[in-house]
Amino acid sequence: MRIPCPYCGSRDVSEFSYLGDAAPQRPDPSGDASSVEAAFFDYVYLRDNPAGPHRGLWYHGAGCRNWLVVRRNPSTHEILEVALAAKEPAA
Ligand SMILES: [Zn+2]
Repeated sequence: MRIPCPYCGSRDVSEFSYLGDAAPQRPDPSGDASSVEAAFFDYVYLRDNPAGPHRGLWYHGAGCRNWLVVRRNPSTHEILEVALAAKEPAA
């Protein structure tokens, strides 16, 4: 699989490290303790396992050292979109 880095161009996946799903957002720590605890449990431990396209965080450690948000289909390995994580709006 090759990932088109916005700075470096098309590079082999071995140059990248996968962090995980880009969708989870850190919950607000204020509020009722039991609901905050449940929200953090979901944030830290529970992940969806989509069969179709999803967004993941990738680090280009052997290249420009930027974090990327890669939207791809894990069933086909098709890369649909790549953007710098720093320029991605919070979901
Ligand atoms: Zn790069």
